[in-house]
Amino acid sequence: MQKKFPSELRYDLVSQDWVLIATGRARRPETFGAEKRQEVKTGKTCPFDALAKQECATIAYNKGKRVDFSRGKVCIPSEWTTISVANKYPAFAPSKSLRKRYVGPYPVMDGVGFHEVIITKDHKKDIPQFSLMQVKEMIDLYHARYVDLKDEDHVHYISIFKNKGLQAGASIAHPHSQLIAIPMTDPDIQRSLSGSYAYFMEHKDCIHCMMLEWDRKDKKRIVFENSLYAVVCPFASRVSFEMRIYPKGHLPYFEKTDESQREGLAEALQMALKKLSKGLNDPDYNYFLHTAPVGGGSDYGHYHWHIEILPKTSVPAGFELGTGIEISTIEPEKAAAFLRKQ
Ligand SMILES: [Zn+2]
Ligand SMILES: [Zn+2]
Repeated sequence: MQKKFPSELRYDLVSQDWVLIATGRARRPETFGAEKRQEVKTGKTCPFDALAKQECATIAYNKGKRVDFSRGKVCIPSEWTTISVANKYPAFAPSKSLRKRYVGPYPVMDGVGFHEVIITKDHKKDIPQFSLMQVKEMIDLYHARYVDLKDEDHVHYISIFKNKGLQAGASIAHPHSQLIAIPMTDPDIQRSLSGSYAYFMEHKDCIHCMMLEWDRKDKKRIVFENSLYAVVCPFASRVSFEMRIYPKGHLPYFEKTDESQREGLAEALQMALKKLSKGLNDPDYNYFLHTAPVGGGSDYGHYHWHIEILPKTSVPAGFELGTGIEISTIEPEKAAAFLRKQ
């Protein structure tokens, strides 16, 4: 019998990166959950349980319905179950003008934009423990706030993401996610866009639809499906147990999702995170939305929005940082088989 090769380099068609799948280590999926986790240290009072001390709310939902409150009079509405507030320590801040200038040869611009924290009421319960209605409410809020901000001056990309746990960069234990609207298109989404565009120009087809069709036929990397979404471990996973949630239909713009599409997404996101939590003993993770940029009048019809979930299963070290080649210590096919049965 031929000796199994210790690793396999896989090519990501969209980002055009190589990743290394360390097949030879033959790590069993069960071993990932056994790792010790460091928890976010919390003081006596949780800042998100005393929201009055935070910044003002920009949008709030209560039991599935958007709360009507006039900012100025009321900073934080009295009844809410999901809320977005301006970040107390924003990375980007609103401004009417965007100053661009040079420092010697170096271009510089003001960090103009929006930075908000999206908080769900319960301090202990996170997405896997939510009712489906609560997950849908959170997604409705993401969507509504996205729509509110997309036509603001100087907003070119809106990033929605969640950091869960210390290793994923969360400094507050209370379940929350974030929204950052920025004045340019970031390099990561830019590469995803140009990879999709290059394929579209050559094949007159969407690269994500093509990959999804193959993955659904192949079945090996599918974690979960409902009528509108598929959750897959990507062929060229960058980290062990990486998952992506794709709408099955070709949809470039997240902002165009309707009520039933958001409901389907709520189910798919919750299923993915439930399986991750159960299978890997509640690991830290990041997830983020990749969607077409806003403003600028460009047509991104070739793009296909999706959510990427990256569990913190290892720490990037010298090789990854020095070469940009990520190492995944489990085959995506094995990871998907394991997550499927959770
Ligand atoms: Zn709290
Ligand atoms: Zn597509």
